[in-house]
Amino acid sequence: MENRVVQGRMVTPKRLAELIEGEDVMDAEPIEDADRECPECGGNVISVGYMPSVTEFVTGYKCQDCDWAADDR
Ligand SMILES: [Zn+2]
Repeated sequence: MENRVVQGRMVTPKRLAELIEGEDVMDAEPIEDADRECPECGGNVISVGYMPSVTEFVTGYKCQDCDWAADDR
């Protein structure tokens, strides 16, 4: 699946990665369901693998309903 709704807005994988990272990212993989609940609101969590720089690959997590986000660093 490509685009997903996050906090009421449709986002692309790259846009989702940028929401998690807080700045531009180089590349992002397709968005996946993370099979976990948001610790803040119990909402659905989605994940995206992305490259914040050429030497780094990060898996990021974002709640679809609130501001909660995390990564696997
Ligand atoms: Zn949440």
